[in-house]
Amino acid sequence: MYIQRLRKYVCLLILPSFLICFSCAGGKPYTKPYEEAEVGGGFNLFSMEEEIKLGEGFSEEVEKDNPILKDQLITRYVDEMGQNIARHSKQPDIPYHFKVVDTKAVNAFALPGGYIYINRGLLELVDDDSELAGVMAHEIGHVAARHGTKQLSKQLVLAGILIGASEAIGRKSEKWGAITQVAGSLGFFLGMMKYSRDDEREADWLAINEIYLAEYNPEGMVTLFDKFKKLHKQTPSRFEQFFLSHPNADERIKNMSRELNKLDYKGRDYPGSPQFNDMKKKLSKLPPPPDAKKS
Ligand code: ZN
Repeated sequence: MYIQRLRKYVCLLILPSFLICFSCAGGKPYTKPYEEAEVGGGFNLFSMEEEIKLGEGFSEEVEKDNPILKDQLITRYVDEMGQNIARHSKQPDIPYHFKVVDTKAVNAFALPGGYIYINRGLLELVDDDSELAGVMAHEIGHVAARHGTKQLSKQLVLAGILIGASEAIGRKSEKWGAITQVAGSLGFFLGMMKYSRDDEREADWLAINEIYLAEYNPEGMVTLFDKFKKLHKQTPSRFEQFFLSHPNADERIKNMSRELNKLDYKGRDYPGSPQFNDMKKKLSKLPPPPDAKKS
């Protein structure tokens, strides 16, 4: 029961932050070479095992509240692409799960522990597999760098200090009890917790490198961001999630372009995959998503 309460509050807390995933990055470009960089370190109350358990619980909530697309061809395509990129991530050994949410909203989000959701609206927007790979790699980057549980840990300790539960957090056997105790007050923090700008910058940086290694055209990320920017001007409401608070796509494109210059990809041939075309064809034949008539 306590775990369920924790999931409920934490889910409420985390989801809005994932929804604005593309909106808040900026600042200095990441400079370490990908091969040498270690990510995912730093303060975290959760072991990887606990993080996966947490993500599993959140995913049940998400899938109860959101329509998951059941189409086999589309789901398989998205999962295969995701697994391929994840193999080249900094956290290749955890089980990843990729699913499509049947909604027109253009978005993607990751839960801790490798549960990643791509919205149908995003699949409809992308023009080639490298663009989709860019978004998926960004979400995989958040998982690999453990941004969700790191942010959550900070908030739990902050809340723990407020209610005196933080002392128990260091003792493993009491950790879950302490966390669930704290989680009861997490509603207070609703909307406060989100990925930091550094998290977003790191996820972009990881994504460029991951898709390069997975042999997608790393320029896909830049072309997609250009597209977001242009379309946002035309239909702002549809792209609200991506540009909610800090519309600094220019800065992110600049950072990504700088990273691209370090990669030796220009002589490579990126013909695109027939599977991508099959996926798009199938997508165009599906009945509209449940929320299609709402606006
Ligand atoms: Zn993000």
